[in-house]
Amino acid sequence: MMVQIRHKYAQLLGYSNYAEFTLESRMARTSEKVFEFLEDISENLSDLAMEELNMLKDLKRREDGDSPFGMEDLLYYMRRAEEQHLDLDLGEVKQYFPVNLVMSGILKIFQDLFGIRIEENKDVEVWHETVCLFSVTDVSSNELLGYFYLDIHSREGKYAHTCVLALQNGNLSSNGTRQIPVALLLSQCPKQIDDNPVLLRFSEVVTFFHEFTHVVHHICIRATYSRFSGLRLDADFIEVPSKLLENWCYESISLKIMSGYYQDITKSVTSSMCTSLRRKRDLFSGLRLKQEVLLCLIDQFIHSSENMDILELLKHLHPKVMLGIPLLEGTNPASCFPQIVIGSEAVCYSYIWSEVVAADIFAAKFQEDLLNQYAGLQFRNKVLAPGGAKDSLEILSDYLGREPAIHSFIKSKTRNSL
Ligand SMILES: [Zn+2]
Repeated sequence: MMVQIRHKYAQLLGYSNYAEFTLESRMARTSEKVFEFLEDISENLSDLAMEELNMLKDLKRREDGDSPFGMEDLLYYMRRAEEQHLDLDLGEVKQYFPVNLVMSGILKIFQDLFGIRIEENKDVEVWHETVCLFSVTDVSSNELLGYFYLDIHSREGKYAHTCVLALQNGNLSSNGTRQIPVALLLSQCPKQIDDNPVLLRFSEVVTFFHEFTHVVHHICIRATYSRFSGLRLDADFIEVPSKLLENWCYESISLKIMSGYYQDITKSVTSSMCTSLRRKRDLFSGLRLKQEVLLCLIDQFIHSSENMDILELLKHLHPKVMLGIPLLEGTNPASCFPQIVIGSEAVCYSYIWSEVVAADIFAAKFQEDLLNQYAGLQFRNKVLAPGGAKDSLEILSDYLGREPAIHSFIKSKTRNSL
């Protein structure tokens, strides 16, 4: 019903279907391109996913005899395999990430990489005593680029998510003066009581890094008009910088800068912990991505054609994408597929799209030297600075010297497989 209403809405606006309406302003542009992208990803992951599936089937055979392997077994045996193959205690890892150390490490990495200086501005009026204001200056020109507030501690009545808000967009006025961008990073860390430092889970460290990239992106945009600054850019592009920088959370050199055992901060995370964190991230990537691709395909199909029977579509697509495993009788995964309902209709592919572009940039420009300021400045000037004033595909193609491709993403997934 909701899908049909979306179609009507798009048709009233002169589009032939909802996907056409929603993709028009994105990097992907058309449904055909999205289908091609998803099928390309799925096909290139088939060998890896098949290897992972065979391993899970073996595990089931050893534990449960010869009964056939179905979708109902997938998550259970992934978990069993993880227990057997991954030597990682996330409770222990957490002890290496006191929030203050993580934050100062993140600031240091961004300063070194992007040639900026971040300084706290004390004695300014803020809305709560735990909120801090920072200024960001370009190191070579000493120009003030922007401000950001950190409001990271939880308190009663506060918005309960971690996110970044653009409080003021940058722009250049006709008399040559620049309006300074201002960002706010909101989060929910508990406040330190006595001498017990607040420790972050590793997933929270990654989230901080991700969100802080949005802050820096906002501040580094140099577009003339406010409309093309801020964080409302091409939605296929806006997550690329943050997805790219997430990679810094899985490399020893950068992890050491933002970690330290809470009772002795001179001891940072070990290289073997770092390797295990990376393996956990990439474990069963083939199968997990195939599941995502399946849902993205369904999303694209139902929003690009009228009166599609979702269940029939699933019965047909499921074995095709999931290496022969049929849809579990009596279930309909679309019923628990939130992206179709809330705000990601026809654009579910975008998450994988951003990851693919980010993996391409990482492999081409940063993998060999994570703290290379030359590479960082190039990224800042060519990719972050234009904001929405230039077509995103053009920005990325100029920067990479070619259009983004999927090979590095596929390779990064196979690199750490079991
Ligand atoms: Zn984000």
